[in-house]
Amino acid sequence: MKIAIDGPAGAGKSAAAKAAAKKLGFIYVDTGALYRGIGLFALRKGAKTNSIEEVVPLLAQIKIEMRHIEGEQHIFLNGEDITGLIRTESVSAAASDVSAIPAVRDFLFDMQRDIAEKNDVVMDGRDIGTVVLPDAELKIFLTAKPEIRARRRVNQLAEKGVEANYDDVLADVIQRDYNDSHREFRPLKLAEDGIFMDNSEITLEETIENIIALAKERKA
Ligand code: C5P
Repeated sequence: MKIAIDGPAGAGKSAAAKAAAKKLGFIYVDTGALYRGIGLFALRKGAKTNSIEEVVPLLAQIKIEMRHIEGEQHIFLNGEDITGLIRTESVSAAASDVSAIPAVRDFLFDMQRDIAEKNDVVMDGRDIGTVVLPDAELKIFLTAKPEIRARRRVNQLAEKGVEANYDDVLADVIQRDYNDSHREFRPLKLAEDGIFMDNSEITLEETIENIIALAKERKA
């Protein structure tokens, strides 16, 4: 079974998808980590991350792999485990930039399909239900109001001891939403047969329960 969860940054996709996968005994696939891996490589090479001319030639030098170690997804870039290096703000911005480049999306397409062919998956991203797994049995578009997503992000950073300015985080959320939904190539949007879920007013636990209930309904 394939479950696709798409939506904007900070909607709680990864937390919900991860927990739902665990409960269902499926593999959780965080596709954003792949774009982050390419973003990190481009940054290390000093490339302008929004430049097709500078980023596309780098793809030939990149081998990106996803392995599940003790149930956790790890990302390897040319053999190096970069899982712990890809959550910074600069890598987030670089990932958003490189993800708008068609050749980058094509580069990662087969890999994402391949993993879903071989496993029961809950896959989260931006174009999973629309492009990568159009045959998914369940497609969810998970979102929340930008202000709520920004507040959650600030709280998350505070838990890590990082103080962030709410207005800056909100501006970043809005900018990333705009980039993801306005790019020409495969923008973020609700799949025709997708289910729209706004979790602004509900807890993470309720979101997970809703996903599980839908999955069971589809599986039956
Ligand atoms: O989900 P996450 O925030 O880790 O994704 C990082 C960036 O990668 C996003 O801002 C988005 O631009 C891009 N992305 C994408 N398609 C996906 C997953 C992520 O374009 N399937």
